[in-house]
Amino acid sequence: MLVRKLKCPNCSAVKVNEIKTGFIYCDFCGTYMGLDMNNFRNEAMDVALSDDNQEKKTEYNNNLLQLADALKNKDIENYKKAAVKMHELDFELYPNRYGPKGKQPAYRQKYMTYYQHMYEETVNDEFFQKREHLMEKITALGAKLKSSIVNNMVHYEFNDDFKDYLNANIDYFKELLSSEKLRNANYMQYYPEYFSDATPDMMMRNTVNGMISTYDEETQKKVIEYLGYKDEYMDVAEVSLKETTCILCAASIRFPEGATSLVCEQCGTKNILETKELECLNCGASYKPEGEEVKCPFCGARTQASKPADYSKVTAKIQEKYYKPLWKRILGI
Ligand SMILES: [Zn+2]
Ligand SMILES: [Zn+2]
Ligand SMILES: [Zn+2]
Repeated sequence: MLVRKLKCPNCSAVKVNEIKTGFIYCDFCGTYMGLDMNNFRNEAMDVALSDDNQEKKTEYNNNLLQLADALKNKDIENYKKAAVKMHELDFELYPNRYGPKGKQPAYRQKYMTYYQHMYEETVNDEFFQKREHLMEKITALGAKLKSSIVNNMVHYEFNDDFKDYLNANIDYFKELLSSEKLRNANYMQYYPEYFSDATPDMMMRNTVNGMISTYDEETQKKVIEYLGYKDEYMDVAEVSLKETTCILCAASIRFPEGATSLVCEQCGTKNILETKELECLNCGASYKPEGEEVKCPFCGARTQASKPADYSKVTAKIQEKYYKPLWKRILGI
């Protein structure tokens, strides 16, 4: 079986289970392992095409415009406000974007606290200057690129211009995600997931993954190879999975031999397999839940069962209807 080489930064296990949302969690210990950009994109498209949540979508778009304005005007306070608001709206409009845990209020609260501290600490005059400088550089480099559309994805001619473009992006990401910078950042103490020395590399790979997710397969492969991420895919022996049900929402969950705890893909509850307890997303204590909406006996945080999101899956028809006009708008082709 050929699987993406996603190693858990905590226990080093490889991901074997199906990933249904944007966040990937370890099948063995429940640790956050990175992002799934395909699920991000599919959900974004489902939401864009759905007739529901029109008001929220308008609010989201208006907020994006405010963010762009603040960026243009180098308006620190309004940029911070709009950036935090964007994440808040993300949680409401895109339930799968933060993975299953995002459905739990205690987890959302933690993430929002993290973002507030992150923007407070990082958005300043220097931030705007660097960004402006990068955008000028990227725009100039981007203008030289030769691209076409293959199966609704962007195909780039992989020449020196493209490499320059890629390097400019990567240098910027590297600076943002340097291990030293993240380790010394105060806001990282609010990061809601497990953080170790392996985390910055994982974040870097996620960022690259996001950047290339609209490229066609051939371009993606070349980028991965060029960046030395060639070993991203690996062969692992078939893993036999056992089945159980989530201790809170009763959704079926599959886990490999040797697993100790894992996150339910449906409701985001971290199930501790042996004791049949859940781990509180606020304080980390574990307890046995009774009922579908429970309160942590230690900190009072609520955890609730949830139903699967009822978004329709992306079909070829939708791609035709949405992707093509989108590329036309973005690239003029
Ligand atoms: Zn693990
Ligand atoms: Zn569940
Ligand atoms: Zn608690």
